[in-house]
Amino acid sequence: MIEKSRKVDRLSLELGDITRFMGDAIVNAANESLLGGGGVDGAIHATAGPDLLAECRALHGCATGQAKLTGGYHLSARHVIHAVGPVWYGGTRGEEALLASAYRSCLELAEQYDLRTVAFPAISTGVYGYPLEEATRVALRTILAWLGDHLLPEHVTCMCYNQRTLEMYESVLASLIKEGRNA
Ligand code: ADP
Repeated sequence: MIEKSRKVDRLSLELGDITRFMGDAIVNAANESLLGGGGVDGAIHATAGPDLLAECRALHGCATGQAKLTGGYHLSARHVIHAVGPVWYGGTRGEEALLASAYRSCLELAEQYDLRTVAFPAISTGVYGYPLEEATRVALRTILAWLGDHLLPEHVTCMCYNQRTLEMYESVLASLIKEGRNA
């Protein structure tokens, strides 16, 4: 029980714009090219400035389910972790495993680069069409499992861009905590 409440204490759910997050890293919901796109990706590149795109170009893309680290340039966060979530095809193309892998890859980079505070957007739930409830379950389960086994990152923020997303995260987190208690 002590272990369970401790990992939940290292997770915050917030309403806001991830480009304003002040901390060690923000996660970008990128595409395989890493050359920018719409949604959160566009907002991150717009705030970071053109040097971010130049660094991304040198990375030569990123496979779905993986992540790569860059500097944060004009962002308030020191680094950007570019994660590529899956496009939703109805759940028949390994989307759940790929989404969990994208979250885990970010957390592995945070550990490797000694990043203490990391903020995630709701990867794949925009243009990529992953249903919000299912994506939220994968996100929170993967993050909580990681926090249960690792000291870094010390704190994870799930940055919800709108009220609907925040309410979904709150309700899924409450049900996971309840399931954990009954386990
Ligand atoms: P994907 O292609 O992975 O679906 P999107 O950028 O289209 O990525 O959407 C991912 C999520 O990011 C969506 O839930 C969207 O509401 C959210 N989002 C968009 N802009 C921001 C932002 N500035 N801060 C945090 N979340 C954002």
